[in-house]
Amino acid sequence: MSQGNSSPRQLESFVSGAWRKGGENGKTLLNAATGAPVALIDSSGLDFAGALNWGRSVGGANLGKYSFHERAAMLKALAKALMAQREEFYQESLATGATRKDGWIDIEGGIGTLFAYSSKARRELPNTRVLTDGAVEALSGDDSFSAQHIFTPLRGIAVHINAFNFPCWGMLEKIAPSLIAGVPCLVKPASQTAYLTELMVRRILETGILPDGALQLVSGSAGDLLDHLTGQDVLTFTGSAATGQMLKQHPVVIGNTARFSMEADSLNASILGPDAGPGAPEFDLFIKEVAREMTVKAGQKCTAIRRVIVPGGLQEPVIEALKARLAKTVVGDPAQETTRMGPLASLDQRNEVRNCIRKLSQGAEIVFGNPDECIIESGDADKGAFLNPVLLHASAPKEAAVVHEVEAFGPVATVMAYETPEDAVDLAQRGKGSLVASVFTNDRSVAEDIVLGMAPYHGRILIGNRESAGASTGHGSPLPSLVHGGPGRAGGGEELGGMRSVKHYMQRTAVQGDPELLSAVTGRWMPGANPHAGGIHPFRQSLETLHVGEQFTTAAREVTLADIEHFADFTGDTFYAHMDEAAARANPFFNGRVAHGYLILSFAAGLFVDPAPGPVLANYGVDNLRFLTPVNPGDYLKVRLTCKEINPRINADYGEVRWDASVTNQDNEVVAHYDVLTMVAKVWPQMMAAE
Ligand code: NDP
Repeated sequence: MSQGNSSPRQLESFVSGAWRKGGENGKTLLNAATGAPVALIDSSGLDFAGALNWGRSVGGANLGKYSFHERAAMLKALAKALMAQREEFYQESLATGATRKDGWIDIEGGIGTLFAYSSKARRELPNTRVLTDGAVEALSGDDSFSAQHIFTPLRGIAVHINAFNFPCWGMLEKIAPSLIAGVPCLVKPASQTAYLTELMVRRILETGILPDGALQLVSGSAGDLLDHLTGQDVLTFTGSAATGQMLKQHPVVIGNTARFSMEADSLNASILGPDAGPGAPEFDLFIKEVAREMTVKAGQKCTAIRRVIVPGGLQEPVIEALKARLAKTVVGDPAQETTRMGPLASLDQRNEVRNCIRKLSQGAEIVFGNPDECIIESGDADKGAFLNPVLLHASAPKEAAVVHEVEAFGPVATVMAYETPEDAVDLAQRGKGSLVASVFTNDRSVAEDIVLGMAPYHGRILIGNRESAGASTGHGSPLPSLVHGGPGRAGGGEELGGMRSVKHYMQRTAVQGDPELLSAVTGRWMPGANPHAGGIHPFRQSLETLHVGEQFTTAAREVTLADIEHFADFTGDTFYAHMDEAAARANPFFNGRVAHGYLILSFAAGLFVDPAPGPVLANYGVDNLRFLTPVNPGDYLKVRLTCKEINPRINADYGEVRWDASVTNQDNEVVAHYDVLTMVAKVWPQMMAAE
């Protein structure tokens, strides 16, 4: 959209239901490789208080009408629509300095995050609008007073302030969990690359998939945005520590206790294990990973390796191997296929990185590259923000505080040596908390010492070795299912991590009361809530007629010694507790021979199953199974089955039903307790005919 010789386009913000221009032309954003004007950006005069209110009232109310599964389906539809239009984003992405490969991380990595959140939400969350958290807490002996923790979506808006390096992924990885939670978003991308975010938001809104108010965009500076945050809002920030700390201390953020999450500069380390010298596969993997992390996105990744920590005596081979790899990095115009590394995002950014290299030079010497020289194969050396890779070596890393403090946000890393694994951990910790670290080793005790030593200081740790190399996603890739964030200097925030991050946009509340009313609140049956006995076997009911709380108690059946011996013979499970009276009596848990746990389960199924073809299509597992009381020959078992939760699937003619199964003996002692998981038809023809 911004390529060619056309005049720069004026970016717009989408606030309070309309695309709006700022009051002035604003700042000109330049192509990172050519210096040509790409876009003008300005947000002056926009009504931010109105935008936040519109998001909360219209977006929040609209999203609140949908279940987790329905919102997950929206993300999937959105991901498909964006994927179909990805070439347009790749074209726009070139202006940011991103090569095709860099763009892939940002664009398809971001869209992939939507797909992943959609799929995980449908698999891991119920198809409801409220989430239960943990087990029911029984607060009375007779089940008349219980408690259940629940999560409900905050009634505010999520304001996502993002960094310049991932204009697509940075937005998508944050809106995915917010939208699944049911919380509307206002995205403020970094100005430098906001034209790509603006394009993607246009395409998102054009699909009409998201309800009104679910997504807004501010192109340009944040103005007085934060002055209007409330205690129901969430502010997330990615960028420099200096800005992050300023936002964290914003009087309104503090005064209203708005939720705040920060992901900032991080001096990520990668450690080469003492076992991984030249010739070991881990040595080669390490070199490849460090060189890759230095050059992908020209090192402008929050997860890039900044500190290369190697065994004493291996500095030379590591430096030589890295030099050989880095020398092959073709730097130039990201549009050229031969280019391996494009420019930095802007000339300002290059100045900043050069300054940082100067600072690093106070504690380390440059062993490869010259920050003031520009060797490129294509592109404009004067107007493009090119910077060739720079490798430094700190010979006394414990005396050189600067190498653990200064983050050069570009293709820059510093090699330093350690003596013992504890020493390596000590060096890594001097970064004061990072997003990610890696260790390359094939030694179990090195892996244990280094990972456990570093874990409190990191949000993610990758262990690299020969066995995982083929499948490894690498040091620098945050994954939707894994936590992304780190303590201390890295900001103390936590993003992604699958459904964990959805809960960052929800309030956890402990609700106490009569289980009947708690069931009404959560949509889940719990012990103590009134059961419903409809007179029809629950397995004869489709989702059309089945209700949460529907209960069925079976007849009793005796467990005989012959049953136990038959089961042992049939399955081959002749464990002494089932077969040898004297040995079983000697066991502190048993009073003579006992029935197999799985025999109890099998008898239970035999008692509660309705055998004829019907709406119950399949049994796909049991959850939370516990055997609580031994069953001896002569005991009588019966089962109480209660419909605990119903999750109709979207776009399918069936859904999941979770049943509470309680198996008791003749003294009403619970011998086994578990959840039975079944797939049940939404409509069942025979059932309807019978009615
Ligand atoms: P900044 O911290 O300046 O900007 C990050 C985001 O914050 C941008 O969206 C920016 O908007 C916004 N912002 C800046 N000031 C305010 C404010 N007063 N109120 C509200 N929002 C504000 O980072 P830069 O993008 O300038 O990058 C600087 C350095 O940060 C890099 O050199 C690098 O060291 C580090 N960085 C770290 C990243 C990480 O993921 N850890 C990612 C990117 C950068 P605007 O652009 O409109 O000013």
